[in-house]
Formats: sequence, C-alpha cells, structure tokens
Amino acid sequence: MPDVKSGSFVKEMKCSRCGKYYEPTSGAIRCVNRDDGRLDIDYDYVALGEVMTPDVLSKRKSGVWKYRELLPIDDPAHIITLGEGGVPLISARRLGEKLGLQRLLLLDDTRNPTASFKDRPMTVGVSKAVELGYETVVSASSGNAAAALSAYAAKAGLRCVTFVPEMASAGKLAQLIIYGAKVVRVRGLEHGEDPTVKMLKEACDRYNWYPCPSFGPMNPYQAEGPKTMSFEIVEGLGWASPDWVVVPVGSGGALAGNWKGYREFEQLGLIKSKPSMVAVQSTGCAPVVRAYERNMDPLKIVPWERPDSVATGLMDPLPWDGDAALRAIKDSNGTALAVTNEEILEAQRILAKSEGIFAEPSGVTSLAGLIKLATSGGIERSDSIVVEITGSGLKDPQVAMKGIPEVPVIDASVEELERILKS
Ligand SMILES: *Cc1c(COP(=O)(O)O)cnc(C)c1O
Repeated sequence: MPDVKSGSFVKEMKCSRCGKYYEPTSGAIRCVNRDDGRLDIDYDYVALGEVMTPDVLSKRKSGVWKYRELLPIDDPAHIITLGEGGVPLISARRLGEKLGLQRLLLLDDTRNPTASFKDRPMTVGVSKAVELGYETVVSASSGNAAAALSAYAAKAGLRCVTFVPEMASAGKLAQLIIYGAKVVRVRGLEHGEDPTVKMLKEACDRYNWYPCPSFGPMNPYQAEGPKTMSFEIVEGLGWASPDWVVVPVGSGGALAGNWKGYREFEQLGLIKSKPSMVAVQSTGCAPVVRAYERNMDPLKIVPWERPDSVATGLMDPLPWDGDAALRAIKDSNGTALAVTNEEILEAQRILAKSEGIFAEPSGVTSLAGLIKLATSGGIERSDSIVVEITGSGLKDPQVAMKGIPEVPVIDASVEELERILKS
C-alpha cells in the first residue's frame, strides 16, 4: 500500500454526554466519567481533503479499508480483514415495478464474510484492539455482532469472550462457537439493566479486556465501520447521494454511522447533498420510533418493556446509539416507522422472489418499512432510494420455513408432474 500515510487523521474524541475531550493517541475506549457517553471521533478534514479525492479512491480495491484514512487506525499493519464490504449496489427493477418506484436500489450486505453488515464495525474494532495491544475482546450479544467479533478475533489470534442471554438458542450460538469464542450464558434481568452488558463492563474493568459490542458507548472505534456503507453508496451513484436511505434499526449504531458518513463526505466536498434517513424498527421493539413520534429528548429515550419480534437482531430494548440515530433522522428530514412480524416476513418473501436475495428478518425490516412508506404516499415514484439489506437469510432458516407449504411428492411420471403443475 504505497499511498498510505502513517498515523491516522483522527483529530480528537469527545464524549457525547459530558463533552470531555480525549487525544487521538489516548487509546480511550469508554469515557472515564463512566456516563455511558460515546467518544465521538472527529478527523482533520482539511488534511483529509487533499488525500481522499475521487481520483485516488477510484484506483483502490473496493471494501471497508478503501476508506482507511477515514477510519481510526494509525498503522495499516494492524488491519485485520476478511474482505468485508465492497458489496453490490443492486438496481431492483422487478421489485421497483411492483412497488411503483422507478429508482430503487439495494445495498446487499448479506454478502459479508460472516453474512451480515456487522463485519464492517468489527473489522475496525478488532484492528484497533490489535493496535492498542489487547489480548482479549468481549461482546454482549448472541447475534450477528458477536459472530462477526468472533471471526475477526480468530483471524487476529485474539481471545474472544461473548456474554449471551441465558435463553440464547444453540443454533444462534453455533457460529460463535465454531469461530472459537468462549461463550458464557448470563442469567437474569436486574432492574432493567441488560445482564450481559453489566458483565461486559465489569469484566473489562476487572481484567483490562477490550469491550467490542456493536454500540458506540462501549467502543467508539467499531462505530466508525458502518459509515463505509454510505461511502459505497455514494461511489456507486457516481459521487451523489440518493434521496432516501432506509435502514433497519436496533441499537441505532448502523443508522447513526451511515449518517456520519454522508456528513463527512459533504465536509470533504465529495457530495453536494445528503439523503433523508429512514429508521425502521419492529412493532415488537420500537423505542427509537416511539421517541421520534413523541419528540423525546435524544438523551432520554425510554427503553422498550417486553421486546418480542421475528427480527431478533433488532431487539435492543435500550438503543445505545439511539441519541445519534434520532438526531440523524431529524437533521436529515427523515422519518421513523415500525412494521409487524407479518410485514417483515412478507418483505422477506418478496425480496427473495423478485430479486434473488435471501435476507434474515432483521436484515429485511428496512424493505418492509419502505413498502409501507411507498403505499402510504410518503415517497415520490421518481425518488432515488437505497434500501440496506443487512443480514443473510441463512442465519435463521427456521423462521423462513414457517410460511412454507408442504413440498409435493410424485411417482416419476410426467402425467403426475402435470397434475402438480396445475394445482
Ligand atoms: C445489528 C443489526 C441491525 C441493526 O443495527 P444497529 O446498529 O443495532 O441499529 C440490522 N440488521 C442486522 C442484520 C443486524 O445484525
């Protein structure tokens, strides 16, 4: 990589709650005031403007690290990659016709190494762990974030510990275990605090482990990964933003990160306008949508009481990055809406049948939201829209099986086949 400048372009980090500043070289991960603020990362955009030009970028290989100057790693030798990002931006012609939309695109993030967009944050998070010299990385999830962290930790040769809820199914844990993570089930719900997050915080303080779940307040470095989705969309559109970007929302990290990407590209003069961000949650866990509808203070989002949804990857009762997500929705003139289990599963079938993409319920909740918006007239036919499809259906084949009728069996004769084809 001859054109790499050593040292990162990070200028400073600042706590989103108390405003405390941190030097880029401090290695800070969580605010010392332990107020659950996120150490938002700011770059030297003036210096970056000279390095990150369309000309330079067009010569590089696609993927998350194509944008390395806008990621918080000092030395490229520390990068741990499995070839994440650089996914196709697909023109969804058949789906668009069905929905009456002329310019519908899909960012297919099912195609990542561990089959969800979480590889984008985790490649950055684990690279930073290597750079800072940690030996153990820790997650608090049974889902895609933990699977991705386990895979990158394996590639880096780091130990990975993941705290998961007691009820986590064996199927969900298989991917973590096969990547070699130490999986620990944690009992109980204490006064609404997620017991897995409690364990993550306490174990990291006690043993000097590296916390790396997919929410910013526990680790600001990984939170920089999802913005590469926006960079890829902008490049795919020939250095322009779409009118709308539709994102499935759990903790809010993906949506907030995406929005930061557009703001940074605008600051670098690479785009002239930014899209409106649409947050889609499940009706079974919609704290961000509720906060948007009730115009709540972003720092006082009320947790969801009893989360329950087919979109298991979006069941974050306390959206850790909800503050940044809520501001992104408002600043971008976007909107937020919730969809039912039926609408999510219907979107899963429509996407697979019309575009050949099999997504998990969490990953296709975005599309369910767009379908709802399009039918309610919230979007113009000629608007350009990017729907982010964030996780593969092969993560959870069981849920797709539910709506599937019994498969016919016949004797080996074309007459019998004809009978079946007619029915
Ligand atoms: C984690 C996840 C999301 C939501 O991302 P957040 O950053 O938690 O909002 C969406 N889709 C899939 C497939 C996920 O794994």
